[in-house]
Amino acid sequence: MRCSCCQKELISNLTLRELFFSPSLRCYHCEKLFTRIEQRTTCPGCGRADTAELCQDCRAWQGKLGFVMGNKSLFRYNAGFRQWIEPYKFTGDYRLRGAFATELAQYLREYRKYVICPLPLSTERFEQRGFNQVSSCLDSAGVTYELLLKRKELAPQSEKSREERLKMIQPFELNRPNEKIRNQKVLLVDDVYTTGRTLFHGAEILYRNGAETVKSLTFAR
Ligand SMILES: [Zn+2]
Ligand SMILES: [Zn+2]
Repeated sequence: MRCSCCQKELISNLTLRELFFSPSLRCYHCEKLFTRIEQRTTCPGCGRADTAELCQDCRAWQGKLGFVMGNKSLFRYNAGFRQWIEPYKFTGDYRLRGAFATELAQYLREYRKYVICPLPLSTERFEQRGFNQVSSCLDSAGVTYELLLKRKELAPQSEKSREERLKMIQPFELNRPNEKIRNQKVLLVDDVYTTGRTLFHGAEILYRNGAETVKSLTFAR
């Protein structure tokens, strides 16, 4: 048996704790990378931990766009999570895609009535990495999804400052006819919730094309 994250063989040092308490089977080292966010005490808008009320950022979004995102995030974006996402996303280590497949599958059971839609990468990013880091995690969790959106070709995001990113124009266009969107509930999925801007862009275009509800899930916040 292998660790779902680093793929190291587990048999020799598989502890009882690893067998029974780790939802995705991870070795002791990898288990420490992921800290679950307690969902009862998160902002109902963005999934921020340790506040059960709508936070200031979400109030600002609500004032500006007229809706909140209804985002939830699985794990805290901390040093441990960065130890997973950096080799996975930036070095392109595809083996790490199944790190929390079981948790992801379990979580998405609550969204059976939703169309699951990973946020798309630009063609350039996709070619650099060779895979979409979000849909590859969904694949490993056995989740069916629909690529409702595609990216207009713009400069890669990490080269822009936070401020520039907030001002950025709509980066998405429809990748499916809008009959696939009208009156649908859509769950957008992304890796990390930072400012929320990208998810709001996704939600805006879906609402404009008649989506009934748009919510989101990110792996970390
Ligand atoms: Zn491991
Ligand atoms: Zn919030």
